Amino acid sequence: MDIKRRDFLKVVAGGGLLLATGEPAFARAPKTLPPNALGILYDATICIGCKACQSACKQYNNMPPDHTYRPPELTDQIWDNPVDLSAKTLNIIKAYKSGTGATKNREVDGFSFIKRHCMHCIDPACVSACPVSALQKNPDNGIVSYNKNACIGCRYCQIACPFNIPKFEFDKPFPQIRKCQLCSHRIEKGEISACCEFCPTGASIFGKVTDLIEEAKRRLQLKPCTYYKYPVSTVTSSYKLLQPVDKYQEHIYGEKEGGGTQYILLAGVPFDKLGLPVLPELSDANRSETIQHTIYYGLIAPVMFLAGLLYAVHRNAKNEDDNN
Ligand code: SF4
Ligand code: SF4
Ligand code: SF4
Repeated sequence: MDIKRRDFLKVVAGGGLLLATGEPAFARAPKTLPPNALGILYDATICIGCKACQSACKQYNNMPPDHTYRPPELTDQIWDNPVDLSAKTLNIIKAYKSGTGATKNREVDGFSFIKRHCMHCIDPACVSACPVSALQKNPDNGIVSYNKNACIGCRYCQIACPFNIPKFEFDKPFPQIRKCQLCSHRIEKGEISACCEFCPTGASIFGKVTDLIEEAKRRLQLKPCTYYKYPVSTVTSSYKLLQPVDKYQEHIYGEKEGGGTQYILLAGVPFDKLGLPVLPELSDANRSETIQHTIYYGLIAPVMFLAGLLYAVHRNAKNEDDNN
């Protein structure tokens, strides 16, 4: 078969054009919130950093104590210990401090707390990346759970997660991935996530995501220096604590980030300063699956590959003929 360089380039250009124009790309529709999506609203402005949520998380998920070695010269940072999520710590309260750190919920010369754990993304990159479906999103309540029996330890989920959440048990002979599963073992018994049940101020509350977003929107309408009855433990709780309102960032983190999440946050300090990533509205899973499906549409990638091989064989054969 006589394939000219120009013919090969035509095939490549044609495939490239299809990819570039998106015609006929398989742009899949963004995923939406499951019908009974459950989640958590965390409000940093009323979090007192007591870490009761962190302790409760350990207790009700049978997680061992955790400690990060700090050199003596960093003892002023002893509060942040352990310093981050790990295979032993599924939920962590971290501290932000700027300048004098005098005023709570202020970006400059202020401080804030931030609670980090799995976001239970609406379109989770970890689920999309896992080759053996060891991570799955419940189609009804949206909880992203992990099946240790299916996991092959490839750690693709760790690389894919834009929030840097899944952790690997490097120190175990049969390691597992560890991450918050929204206390689904408690939810099955009619209970709520431990971190919300034991939060004394209502900074972490559990409920239907639609109710949590409504509550978050209500809080953004509040005027600073007024008082508001903050529900404790669950968004629908009749037990409410009257607390002063501080100034909020005009943003509900997680409502749209990375396709939306079921863990949503409010704060007085910009979220990127609190260590949360700035993400586009389209999820990583959506973008990567669209590219994959487009490449394989009509066998574009294999055809391009085959054309490349044929061209290389043809060129080598021609060079050999010329040399003889
Ligand atoms: S935060 Fe990471 S681990 Fe959790 S659901 Fe989203 S992608 Fe998965
Ligand atoms: S929902 Fe459960 S596992 Fe997740 S952070 Fe809260 S206590 Fe920990
Ligand atoms: S229990 Fe509540 S107030 Fe205490 S650190 Fe956790 S979220 Fe903040």
